[in-house]
Amino acid sequence: MSDRLPCLTSRLQGFGTTIFAEMSALAAAHDAVNLSQGFSDVDPPEAITEAAVAAIRGGRNQYAPGIGVAALRQAIAAHRQRFHGQAYDPDDEVTVTAGATEAVCAALQAVCEVGDDVVVLEPAYDAYLAGARMAGAVPRPVTLRPPDFRVDAAELAEVVGPRTRAIVVNSPHNPTGAVLGDDDLEAIAAVCRERDVLAITDEVYEHLVYSGPHRSLASRAGMRERTVVISSAAKTFSATGWKIGWVCAPPALTTAVRIAKQFMTFTNGTPFQDAIAVGLGLDDGFFVELAESHRVRRDQLAAGLSSCGFDVMATHGSYFVLTDVTSAGYDDDVAFCRDLPAKVGVGAVPCSGFYTDPRRGRGLVRFAFCKRGEVIAEAVKRLQAAFA
Ligand code: PMP
Ligand code: GLN
Repeated sequence: MSDRLPCLTSRLQGFGTTIFAEMSALAAAHDAVNLSQGFSDVDPPEAITEAAVAAIRGGRNQYAPGIGVAALRQAIAAHRQRFHGQAYDPDDEVTVTAGATEAVCAALQAVCEVGDDVVVLEPAYDAYLAGARMAGAVPRPVTLRPPDFRVDAAELAEVVGPRTRAIVVNSPHNPTGAVLGDDDLEAIAAVCRERDVLAITDEVYEHLVYSGPHRSLASRAGMRERTVVISSAAKTFSATGWKIGWVCAPPALTTAVRIAKQFMTFTNGTPFQDAIAVGLGLDDGFFVELAESHRVRRDQLAAGLSSCGFDVMATHGSYFVLTDVTSAGYDDDVAFCRDLPAKVGVGAVPCSGFYTDPRRGRGLVRFAFCKRGEVIAEAVKRLQAAFA
């Protein structure tokens, strides 16, 4: 047999099992409270689960149209209009994907030539680095630095070069919990407009914002026509297992994303698409309550982690609290998180892997608060017994 590695294995060296899957498995193996992988421990709202059951019982069990069920594409466009004041044509500008994960990969495949640069805001969600490399592109980091994790406009301008095709912008941001403000977005928009760079925005936490509104880069002047907007039902409706995401983009970008999607999954989750169309139509109160209930749990977990002596960073959005455990005497986030389930009975995610140079994220550990209050309380009790 040839001893040459398959080219993807060498291009994606270091990308074995994702850190989320590894940490979730470790938590399960030790019966630990799993605050690692970001998923809710409650079901989606009943109106949504009932709609999925009705769809399955009602014979909606075969391929959906490749671009997505019409009712869902219309609901996505209406949702975008309601929350961002932007009109997208459901037929030519909206595409349903197998979660935001496929959307990110399809968007990168759609826009990148081999050898292009893709700018990512670091720490960066793993799918951007892997997706860029799968497309043959090179991820170029712009670092968001604690405590505020703002975009450094000068660094951004320096990193963007003649080969830069796109910038991936994630806000609310995983893993820092930062929400980009007007200054950050304007700095990015200015570079995109002036240097003819596309934007891919990952807005899966758009409804999980705790201080100030989430603003979408595509809403800024000159940006709609050069942005691929990505979101997902996973976090908004506590339905990470349903894998329903979407892309809103102008027609030419939509066409390219659809070609990529067509040959990755072709289509996905017909009955779940029907159900998420119902979810996107829920009244404003649902979305307000979603953020409120997560705010309470953010505060609960942040206070608990502080009481353990960890340096806790402010979370303005997302599911996550980021801590620096070096303040408690640990300097290796990976070793810390690998030990935590067995020794303390809690799962968490090490963040050095969110950096192109892992040394930059040394000591940063992410805890998820998308869990019921009593589950967070148990995790805090265990952490306090070990560290406080
Ligand atoms: N982007 C970010 C920033 C995420 O945290 C996640 C995890 N939900 C995803 C994308 C993937 O979303 P999905 O589960 O819809 O594929
Ligand atoms: N988005 C989830 C997280 O950040 C993980 C999803 C996954 O396992 N790929 O925890």
